[in-house]
Amino acid sequence: MTDDLETTKPACGARATLIVTLTPVGTATNVARSRVSLHCAMPLGHKGPHLDPDHAEQWEGAHNAVPTLLRHEED
Ligand SMILES: [Zn+2]
Repeated sequence: MTDDLETTKPACGARATLIVTLTPVGTATNVARSRVSLHCAMPLGHKGPHLDPDHAEQWEGAHNAVPTLLRHEED
């Protein structure tokens, strides 16, 4: 049984857009600082939320959806 050692399995490839926001000093308004495209690196057909290990983000969503995620960072 060598199937489990197959390294060319396709990745899930689901996508999402991550927008990182912050609140500048002296304001109460969140502003978008950066926009990142996430790609799921889990195997195709995996269970549970999608995961982009490069950006340490996970999300739920249909494979053909491209949800937008927000992450707030303190300055
Ligand atoms: Zn996925």
